Amino acid sequence: MTQRPFGWTGAQVPVIGQGTWMIEGSADVERRSVDALRAGIDLGLTHIDTAEMYGSGRAEEIAGKAIAGRRDEVFLVSKVLPSNASYEGALRACERSLKRLGTGRLDLYLLHWESQYPIGETMRAMERLIDEGQIRYAGVSNFDVDQVRAAQAALRNHRLASNQVLYHLGERGIERKLIIYCQEREIALVRYTPFGRAKFPRPDSSGGRVLEGIAKRHGRTVRQVILNFLTRLDGVFTIPKAGNLEHTTENAGGAGWALMAEDIEAIDRAFPAPTRDTPLAML
Ligand code: NAP
Repeated sequence: MTQRPFGWTGAQVPVIGQGTWMIEGSADVERRSVDALRAGIDLGLTHIDTAEMYGSGRAEEIAGKAIAGRRDEVFLVSKVLPSNASYEGALRACERSLKRLGTGRLDLYLLHWESQYPIGETMRAMERLIDEGQIRYAGVSNFDVDQVRAAQAALRNHRLASNQVLYHLGERGIERKLIIYCQEREIALVRYTPFGRAKFPRPDSSGGRVLEGIAKRHGRTVRQVILNFLTRLDGVFTIPKAGNLEHTTENAGGAGWALMAEDIEAIDRAFPAPTRDTPLAML
């Protein structure tokens, strides 16, 4: 699996990781989720993204099962809910997440989206968590340029490591400013929902046909083409969620090869980025 430095941190992180939103369910569903996550780790998809919100903590417990005995192989990320992001609240939330995940340390802890608590308060908690060793790095999610700037300014002794935002072929608004802002400051940009959920390109649409053609030429699948396109730039990463082994294996094949310039141009034409600034989209 292709890895690259996670922004200024220099940590080597795979360009394709694994999401965990909606991995919980019946015993059978959860067993498949654990198997898929473990197989993903074997394939090098070692960036595991979770959050206290997912399944009200259940996703963290399942992720904890998947990484049991393998903690040092993964780059483990969780998120604090905005409603828990007061100074004391964030410290307590982190402790609960660590317990559910069965570990003493997160590699990255994110504020899930903007909170009603002042950003300075949340970032002060992040700094304390770094200083005490419960987290290695602090970051944010669903933050646009001005919000990232404010989060950075609120940190006194540490740097903001990452911003996790929505990005897929039908939602390319962050290309206008946010990607450039983060790349210039070496803030790792993690793209969530790479397949767009309900907006996944239909095979019978013109865009779907463009992707099919590219996939055929490379002996790949459409999803692999999408993941390759989404991770082609320095400083960017993506975290597809897969509920079974077959999907994880397919997703792992999205890296380790390169689209040609003409493929990228064709995708740009079929799924154009907006030509005007748009408000940051989120799920
Ligand atoms: P996604 O990864 O784009 O898509 C997940 C969907 O695609 C699932 O229904 C999954 O089905 C299907 N899928 C995955 N691989 C497949 C394959 N190879 N073939 C066919 N279907 C496949 O969407 P997402 O879960 O919204 O986003 C990914 C992760 O980003 C989340 O899990 C979460 O960790 C993170 N996220 C963060 C935020 C935030 O606010 N920070 C918001 C949303 C998501 P199966 O389950 O059947 O495999």
